[in-house]
Amino acid sequence: MATIQFLGAAGTVTGSAFLVEHEGRRVLLDCGLFQGEKALRRRNWDPFPVPPSSLDAVILSHAHIDHSGGLPRLVRQGYKGPIYTTPATRDLLAIVLPDSGRLHEEEAADANRMRWSKHAPALPLYTEEDALRCLPKIEAARYGVPTHLHGGIDVTFHRAGHILGSAIVQIDLSRKDGYRHTLVFSGDLGRFGMPIIPDPEPIERATTLLLECTYGDQSHEDPDPRAELGAIVREVIERRGVLVIPAFAIGRTQDLLFHLRQLQLAGAIPTVSIFVDSPMACDATPLFLLHREEHDAEMNRMLSSGLDPLTPRRVEFTRGVQESRGIAAAHPPMIIISAAGMATGGRVLHHLSRWLPNPKATVLFVGYQAGGSRGRKLLEGARTIRIHGRDVPVNARIRALRGFSAHADRDEVDRWLSSFGSPPRRTFCVHGEGPALEATRSRLEARGWNAYVPAYMETVDLDG
Ligand SMILES: [Zn+2]
Repeated sequence: MATIQFLGAAGTVTGSAFLVEHEGRRVLLDCGLFQGEKALRRRNWDPFPVPPSSLDAVILSHAHIDHSGGLPRLVRQGYKGPIYTTPATRDLLAIVLPDSGRLHEEEAADANRMRWSKHAPALPLYTEEDALRCLPKIEAARYGVPTHLHGGIDVTFHRAGHILGSAIVQIDLSRKDGYRHTLVFSGDLGRFGMPIIPDPEPIERATTLLLECTYGDQSHEDPDPRAELGAIVREVIERRGVLVIPAFAIGRTQDLLFHLRQLQLAGAIPTVSIFVDSPMACDATPLFLLHREEHDAEMNRMLSSGLDPLTPRRVEFTRGVQESRGIAAAHPPMIIISAAGMATGGRVLHHLSRWLPNPKATVLFVGYQAGGSRGRKLLEGARTIRIHGRDVPVNARIRALRGFSAHADRDEVDRWLSSFGSPPRRTFCVHGEGPALEATRSRLEARGWNAYVPAYMETVDLDG
């Protein structure tokens, strides 16, 4: 019997983790952290539902922390086995996981110093050292090449087109008696025509499909996000203001750099100081140039004509805290790109607390903003926002460009689903909030598919 238990990304967009059991073998598909609402983040501290030492393998769809950030804790609590992923994800994890550990340590230290926490002393969820211990366990597999695990389990990665290294994960479960079950996890499904990386790969067959539903009830309406970004940049420069863009350090930041470079080359925006204030983006950006197996035709064309597609004019990458503080002394107009993308933490908080009160500033969100995040609150028109224990007034202009999303919208998900030769026996709608999940489920049922929205911690018999 094969089962799946939904340990996260069930009814929500974060905490991606699914426990697959087959013939007494246990495989964990993704090991993400919960983000957003406090009630969700509290789950990061819950004990793992089975002893981590009883897991045979961990498989990661991509490097984003809501898919990978639980690993250091899993390893600290006794997980000894391998971690399978793609080569680019392996390289990104070497940056992302230690950074996550450092952030948890810094937050605990800040909380203790400023006495924000109700817990005395506040402890980090895990440390940089815990994160470093995960890295030697990572085994990279190329797209399209199956990896044979013990006990009739094979794993194959396909391109998901979401961020560098991102994968659709195919897990084939088989037995000597001829039993065969193909579980496909869409992972975070990217958009068609995104910069840098190729489109999501078509999949023809699955017995069970786990489908991400982030934008299951929406279409990205911005017809040309690059042009809109250009318009916002020009407006900020004319006002001699500051444009603060909270962005994931990996993926969205490089997309923005690519678009800003293109806008400059096209003469669509004047040259302006651009600060990328994120140590992680400093480390990750060169990997986007290095992993040529991940490049689409446009990226290849630029590189072969000798243009660096990710280095706009007057860009400065700031790594150290001192340099980061130096940005505060720079004269507007300028653009600041900094993490975290939902303003849930990280250095962008310092820039937000400085610029949100200023009516000459614009804060631009370019990614999904989960319920409860500061990003969502700002987009919903909050007049003040709490940062580092202080209420910061909001006078800056708040904008969003959904067209920069790294997630497929409703129509793009449908386009990807149309590559299936026949409907999977069952499709689980995951990685979405309530309305998006329900909209996807009813859309799938309307096309004759058997779709289901699993609950958090629910276990389902895959053969039932
Ligand atoms: Zn992602």
